[in-house]
Amino acid sequence: MTKSEELFKRAVNVIPGGVNSPVRAYSSVGETPRFIRKASGSRIYDVDGREYIDYIDSWGPMILGHDNEEIREAVTEAVKNGLSFGCATEIEVEIAEYICERIPHIEMIRMVNSGTEAVMSAVRVARGYTGKNKIIKFAGCYHGHSDALLVSAGSGVMTSGVPDSSGVPKGCTEDTMIAIYNDLESVKKLFDECKDEVAAVIVEPIAANMGVVPPAKGFLEGLRKLCDENRALLIFDEVITGFRFGFTGAAGYFGVVPDLVTYGKIIGAGMPVGAYGGRKEIMELVSPVGKVYQAGTLSGNPIAMTAGLTQLKILYEHPEIYDNIYRMGEKLYGGIKKILEENGAPCKINSIGSLGCVFFTENEVKDYMSAKTADTEAFGKYFKYMLNSGIHMAPSQFEAMFLSNAHTDEDIERTLETIRKYFSGN
Ligand SMILES: *Cc1c(COP(=O)(O)O)cnc(C)c1O
Repeated sequence: MTKSEELFKRAVNVIPGGVNSPVRAYSSVGETPRFIRKASGSRIYDVDGREYIDYIDSWGPMILGHDNEEIREAVTEAVKNGLSFGCATEIEVEIAEYICERIPHIEMIRMVNSGTEAVMSAVRVARGYTGKNKIIKFAGCYHGHSDALLVSAGSGVMTSGVPDSSGVPKGCTEDTMIAIYNDLESVKKLFDECKDEVAAVIVEPIAANMGVVPPAKGFLEGLRKLCDENRALLIFDEVITGFRFGFTGAAGYFGVVPDLVTYGKIIGAGMPVGAYGGRKEIMELVSPVGKVYQAGTLSGNPIAMTAGLTQLKILYEHPEIYDNIYRMGEKLYGGIKKILEENGAPCKINSIGSLGCVFFTENEVKDYMSAKTADTEAFGKYFKYMLNSGIHMAPSQFEAMFLSNAHTDEDIERTLETIRKYFSGN
């Protein structure tokens, strides 16, 4: 038995499923999770001493690669002053100013501890601001595990969402309506059916939790228009896309201005951080200035803020990092596309910038329904082959590959060669 297998055996006795977040269990690909000991640059190492090229990158935060020296040093310095004070600190002002001065649509920002918290709070603010209750989300978009957003994606447009999880009362999702990604008509229909009841539309501006599904031309602009016409707020959940599609995220990348934005992942550089922000007039509704209550004992934690601010500064001061990860994205995902075509593989690849994903289906994937046509068993086989060849990818058909600035051309070439071997059978 490997050390990972031993650890997993112990883990399942004391942690549900042996993991602290479900996708880590590798159950959808019929594998035992690899327990990780350390990571550096583009590489991650398991407890059995195996080395992998890592395309999970902690699900996005490690956009500079693992164990970035500057961030490590800043954090090590910060630790010397204590881990947490539960009081206001200078670094919280610094990171908020840093973001607000550089992202035009963020005039005020509040730090929390996860993407889930950020989204839950942003939705509360949108409801407080508009005085309306209903929200529109899209099938296949993930916004964390808060009750109101854990809604079954279903097969189409729904005016009243069905809880996706046991333990979520129906009442919690009654005001969550489900539209179809990349389908403005489905959104319009919900607005028409619930006139003057919709507080907000929440969307992943680039969907990356049903595999990668970029927005169709005009989709985000259309949402902006529908929200304006119906006096609803537009919330961009940029937990993955924030600071990945340039410093200003998908909003800047596509030039569509949301009312509220949620962040996570990259903003904490690997520490547990989330944030939500937007126009001052909206954000001033948050307690203690306003009547929308939201709090957090460890929010704005000085170590987490140090890690986050150091990473944000590197990204802002080195825009060539974005050029590099886009270039590598073209090389990797373009290379995969070519391999799939050359071998007549029954697969499609979706990609944008540094995010990409191979779908095991011959259908174009543009929404949740088409994503669901993927053959997850076939994905599982591919995943296992890649893992055993030293390529560490998300253990699910419906997750993205994340490129970091630490990936090298050699990493990508080796990855492509492995993929070529898999699909060509030699
Ligand atoms: C990861 C993710 C979340 C949830 O963030 P957590 O930090 O896991 O709570 C929310 N929205 C999107 C788009 C995400 O990718």
